[in-house]
Amino acid sequence: MSDDCIFCAIVDGEIPSRTVYEDEETLAFLDANPLAPGHVLVIPKTHHERLNDLPEALSGAVLDALYQLVSPVETAIEADGTTVAFNNGAAAGQEVPHVHGHIIPRFEGDGGGPIHAITGSRPELSDEELDSIAEDIAGRA
Ligand code: AMP
Ligand code: ZN
Repeated sequence: MSDDCIFCAIVDGEIPSRTVYEDEETLAFLDANPLAPGHVLVIPKTHHERLNDLPEALSGAVLDALYQLVSPVETAIEADGTTVAFNNGAAAGQEVPHVHGHIIPRFEGDGGGPIHAITGSRPELSDEELDSIAEDIAGRA
């Protein structure tokens, strides 16, 4: 629990939420300012800022809750698909510093973009640079 965290306050029942799913480790509720009807947030019940900060077992629990919810959300909202994503860190647009996965219902022709639209332009990378990046990440994973 973090004292000034709005999502910890939801877990503790101090702030109301429209809960759609709960298990021992995770909670899911409707986004208060939805991008589409049925926009759901999935959070771990304990306070961790970013995905990187989650204990490994908890990362599995969060993914499992997302998995449990994708079909119910799509069916309830009659959506054609969903964008499932994390804003991971302030640079990526994360405003609430308690890790949360978004499930955003999508509809044919809804005018929204794919995840590929989130950066302004694509970097020009040589084969050597790509090889080096892949090697660096693989060496740390
Ligand atoms: P992010 O930019 O990924 O940090 O997204 C934070 C999300 O939390 C936004 O979509 C907000 O609409 C949502 N949000 C903020 N406060 C609440 C709240 N009290 N209940 C439900 N959703 C909230
Ligand atoms: Zn929190």
